[in-house]
Amino acid sequence: MINSYKVEVKTLGIKMPVYLFQIDDILLDSGPKSAEKDVKAILKKLQVNRVIHTHHHEDHTGNSRWIEDEFMIPQYIHPLGVSICNKQTRLPLYRSLLWNNRKSFHALPIEGEYIKTASYYFKVVHTPGHAEDHIVLIDEEKKICFSGDLYLFHSPTAHFSFESVPKIIRSIELVLTHNFQEVYCSHSGYLKNGRRLLEKKLDYLLSLQEKVIKAHDAGIPMNRIRKDFFPKNKALQYFSFFESSPKHTVNSLINDRR
Ligand SMILES: [Zn+2]
Repeated sequence: MINSYKVEVKTLGIKMPVYLFQIDDILLDSGPKSAEKDVKAILKKLQVNRVIHTHHHEDHTGNSRWIEDEFMIPQYIHPLGVSICNKQTRLPLYRSLLWNNRKSFHALPIEGEYIKTASYYFKVVHTPGHAEDHIVLIDEEKKICFSGDLYLFHSPTAHFSFESVPKIIRSIELVLTHNFQEVYCSHSGYLKNGRRLLEKKLDYLLSLQEKVIKAHDAGIPMNRIRKDFFPKNKALQYFSFFESSPKHTVNSLINDRR
């Protein structure tokens, strides 16, 4: 059984949807603290025995401390995320306005390569790039993938300063070696043609990488490359004081390449 729950966060004209998923006895991610009223109302009605986090970001772990205090159920994350969850976040201003800081909570490391529920058998696939501890869950028999923040959008024009685009490319390539069609994305929800959308994102990023590296090898300066490929800045880029920016897309494609 899979249930999707959408909560929406609005700050300064920016609206961000977040999806929580119940998969049998699992709650996948706990949503942002700024949506705690909605999240609490949803969780009080759910029968779950454990929480799995796709990664440590505050919009995926924001209510985990409350879950710990209220339900005392185990909460898991990739081993690289455990110590991060033990500390309260200190977010840049715009992220604390949008998502709120997350309190510390006790996360256990996901052990083993598979997670089993009553009706699903998930492979845990480590997919760094958006975050070092990012994982996706894939059930190849049911052909479904819970993609966390790996997908988001098929042709992103900006990335965060903490992201590595070449790592995101390798993670999508790895995920696509598995058998699945449908995708459950943490910010876009259920995507019937999710596999095709991930393939589209991969094609887009690979062709962008090729063009950016070609321009760089031809001696064109990085800020010129950025202006040529991404002439416009978007609202989130200003709002984030350029923690999210095409500058990071270009830098990362050049500096983190294989
Ligand atoms: Zn994230």
